[in-house]
Amino acid sequence: MSVVREPAAERVVVIGAGPVGQTGALLLARWGIPVTVLDARPGRDLIGSKSICQQRDVLDVWEAVGAGRQIADEGVTWERARTYYRDKELFCLTFAERGRSAFPPFVNISQSRTEEILDERIAATPLIDVRWAHEVVGIAQDDDGVTVTCRTPDGERVLRAPYVLACAGSKGDAVRQMLGLNFEGRSFDDHFLICDIRADLGAWANERRFYFDPEWNPGRQVLIHPCPDSTYRIDWQVPGDFDLEEQRRSGALDRRIRQIVGDRPYEVVWSSVYRFHARLVDRMRVGRVLVAGDCAHIVAPFGARGLNSGVQDVENAAWKLAFVLRGWASPELLATYDVERRAAAAENIAVTSSTMDFLVPQSEAAWQRRREVLERALTDPRARAEVDSGRLAEPFWYVDSPLTTPHPTRVFTGRPPRGQTPPVVPGVLVPDAPINVPGSPDVGRLREIARDGVLVLTTGDPAVAEAAATAVTRAPVRALAIADIDPSGLLAEALDARPGEAFVIRPDGHLAAVVAHDDAPALSTAVARLLGQPAAWPSDQPA
Ligand SMILES: Cc1cc2nc3c(=O)[nH]c(=O)nc-3n(C[C@H](O)[C@H](O)[C@H](O)COP(=O)(O)OP(=O)(O)OC[C@H]3O[C@@H](n4cnc5c(N)ncnc54)[C@H](O)[C@@H]3O)c2cc1C
Repeated sequence: MSVVREPAAERVVVIGAGPVGQTGALLLARWGIPVTVLDARPGRDLIGSKSICQQRDVLDVWEAVGAGRQIADEGVTWERARTYYRDKELFCLTFAERGRSAFPPFVNISQSRTEEILDERIAATPLIDVRWAHEVVGIAQDDDGVTVTCRTPDGERVLRAPYVLACAGSKGDAVRQMLGLNFEGRSFDDHFLICDIRADLGAWANERRFYFDPEWNPGRQVLIHPCPDSTYRIDWQVPGDFDLEEQRRSGALDRRIRQIVGDRPYEVVWSSVYRFHARLVDRMRVGRVLVAGDCAHIVAPFGARGLNSGVQDVENAAWKLAFVLRGWASPELLATYDVERRAAAAENIAVTSSTMDFLVPQSEAAWQRRREVLERALTDPRARAEVDSGRLAEPFWYVDSPLTTPHPTRVFTGRPPRGQTPPVVPGVLVPDAPINVPGSPDVGRLREIARDGVLVLTTGDPAVAEAAATAVTRAPVRALAIADIDPSGLLAEALDARPGEAFVIRPDGHLAAVVAHDDAPALSTAVARLLGQPAAWPSDQPA
């Protein structure tokens, strides 16, 4: 068999052309980094759909690579989540946001279509080279880089790159093994039957409905999501021995669907049965390899925390890899990828596991508690907070990150209850707001300029902020006076900006620090710290 050794190149190799690998490649290319994407499959196979529900901050990341608006426009917007017990509505949630996002809280669109749209962006990006039928069978590292060996139909191919982003998905056991990773966790007993059906269900078209114990699935639940093209995702909790083929043959599947759609005509677009798991790798960075998406963590989909968090992984990885490769930050910055994203994954696992414990109780006592909570929630509004059909995805807050400078009064006191806006404290994703685009008559959005480098928004003199930031980095820095870009006052309101403050924002839009606008040393230290310069970390943080 032939072996082709390619010359070393200053690129990042991305393993996996799933949506996380696709997004990672696009984000790296946006920073000017060449990328080679390797996937074992012979090509894109758009069968079925897993993820449907994409969160607004993820749409915003996709917009940074030219795909967010299209995904949002093609998807179904929903702003309400209704929860029922038997035939009674318990509550209806809407989603609060501090600031004014350009995107709705959630849109539903099939993962297949999202992948197609991302493929179109990749095809229009000369810095990305996608290679299908390249199965990664070897990963070796030394002080200078990574050697990746692939099996292809034409023989073996060996690539060399300074860094690798591993996005090999939940089935990427081989990649996890090559990296020596554990993927510990738990699996949940019940199975879930998922059908995407096409039908005209009228008023159901713009809201998510979650039914506990409906008479058509007693003791279990059913989740219904609207999707584009009059398609609905119906997700039934079913016993572990559920047999989809037998249900199709016997007509039981048709009867099940008819219980929801009545005698309207319908068509099954896709169906599958899943068992859900909660697993997390023991490290998300192994030397020069950063591990992202389902390759690093898998969760039950209630709350839509799978792909949404995978996109946030690669956003975190992409700016850090780019800054190191461009010489704007030292390689120590990469250690913080593991710190920040494993904390995010652990939170997602805790949240989704607690949902699964409510949905699939593991003991008679837990079943009894579930029944008692649901009964009480019919009349007692306080019990409704205990009804857990999934806490919907939200960005992780890097409040405890070594890159974040704590503030004496803007302090994290825990996530606010569902439906309430989070406070602006160092570590959060900055709220979006309309701004006057600097140097142009156009009105734009804060998030559009937040991802171009280090951004300082100040209530004082931007020249002071710029000098303080550029004193410690050669990375792109932009310092702007809030008053100059915020004629409507909506930005200051969204940031809850007080006189004398300056906001230091990371290249992924997270707030790194709020310091006094005229304290140049504090500004310099905050910028150095967000770039992972160990000298800027307090002595209790690991270098
Ligand atoms: C029923 C269901 C519903 C879901 N709903 C939602 C939702 O509403 N919202 C949400 O955010 N998430 C949802 N998810 C989760 C979402 O589908 C996943 O998080 C997402 O697919 C992860 O993408 P990925 O790119 O990490 O992995 P994948 O999509 O699995 O892609 C991995 C890629 O790596 C390639 N690969 C693997 N091994 C190798 C190798 N050795 N060499 C080369 N290539 C390799 C594979 O061929 C594949 O193309 C849902 C999941 C399920 C099952």
